[in-house]
Amino acid sequence: MEFGWSDTELAFRARLRRFIDERLPAEWALLIPGEHVATDFTMSFSAALADAGLFASHWPHEYGGNDASPWQFIVSGEELWAAGEPRGSQYMNVNWIGPAIFTSGTDEQKDLHLKRIAGGDVTWCQGFSETGAGTDLAALSTTAERDGDSYVINGQKVWTSYAQDAEYCFVLARTDPQSSGTAGISIFLVPTSTPGFRREVIPSVLEIHEYNRLTFADVRVPESCRLGAENEGWAVIRSALAHERIGGPRYARAALVTERIAAQAEAEGWWGQDGFGMRLAAARSACAAARILVYQAIDARVKGRPEDLVVSLARVAIVRCERAVAELAADLGGEESLVAGSVGHGQLKTAMIAGLGGGSVEVQLNQIARIRLGSGR
Ligand SMILES: Cc1cc2nc3c(=O)[nH]c(=O)nc-3n(C[C@H](O)[C@H](O)[C@H](O)COP(=O)(O)OP(=O)(O)OC[C@H]3O[C@@H](n4cnc5c(N)ncnc54)[C@H](O)[C@@H]3O)c2cc1C
Repeated sequence: MEFGWSDTELAFRARLRRFIDERLPAEWALLIPGEHVATDFTMSFSAALADAGLFASHWPHEYGGNDASPWQFIVSGEELWAAGEPRGSQYMNVNWIGPAIFTSGTDEQKDLHLKRIAGGDVTWCQGFSETGAGTDLAALSTTAERDGDSYVINGQKVWTSYAQDAEYCFVLARTDPQSSGTAGISIFLVPTSTPGFRREVIPSVLEIHEYNRLTFADVRVPESCRLGAENEGWAVIRSALAHERIGGPRYARAALVTERIAAQAEAEGWWGQDGFGMRLAAARSACAAARILVYQAIDARVKGRPEDLVVSLARVAIVRCERAVAELAADLGGEESLVAGSVGHGQLKTAMIAGLGGGSVEVQLNQIARIRLGSGR
């Protein structure tokens, strides 16, 4: 058994690291991933990554990738997340929006979207959550009513990241009015310029991230905007969410923050504090555990094994490591952790996001219990 990286992945990581060193402004390392001050830069950076063949390398060649293994997907996630995620919203495009389109889309949809996504040239947003359907996504009530060869969409979405800049929205809506739960839901690829589509920024305590409320008031889209079969969107969503859950390797940045704390500990004399060494070791272990579980999930993907359980375990471990590092940073930094720019401040904010964005962590625990106790998925 070989636990090390292959030469191909080592070379890919080295090339990506060089690219980041050369192209990323130094101050970027101190930003918190998701910080919106940098939107324009993220677009040009993603396009440059694409030009260098480093953006969608794990995609099939015919859609603009290099046919690389899923290991390159996680290598690029680790390197870019550790560097502050300079792809911005574009990480979603390569992680799951593009793959959902090349797996389930029509030729017309592939032609329209994939070249632009693989080129890092378009912003999307994800219209899933509603006020009554967050954790319980299948309770969504946005409707898409068929009218000849069109659909008319009505409803509201909340917490939609990046919508303020998005050209397209990946929208879930109920197409069978008699249905409930996961049945009767379809996916629509909606241009945000369509009449009746409205977006408003929701102010947030996080400050680093802009959320939006989307309103669909008689938004009429042609049938060609529906992704996959009518009423059968849930299977596509399940696979997309599996990519989303481990798509942000937060442990890579949390591990860097842990080492920053260790360095600060030298300067501030924290090593003498009761229990500091143990807590630092626990934070380091939490980051390592998350990394290994993510690798297990990728291994399952590469080998075509079921990955539901390990993806959920990995997501819980990712959230736990973000929180362990945040608590350590906040306890040691004290009030300074409330000041923007401090180690604790950035880590506290990303830890707040970690347990909710991409689905709440408690539901992952439910999912793990269901799979392990054998009562279905
Ligand atoms: C940074 C960030 C970005 C986001 N971006 C987007 C986006 O782009 N598009 C989008 O559609 N959504 C987005 N969201 C929304 C996110 O998907 C939801 O916040 C998440 O699904 C939880 O839904 P909710 O906020 O309605 O919380 P609720 O579902 O109301 O849950 C509140 C709390 O109750 C707990 N809970 C609920 N049900 C159960 C249960 N059955 N068992 C145990 N505990 C339970 C939850 O775990 C949670 O702690 C984003 C959220 C964040 C934080």
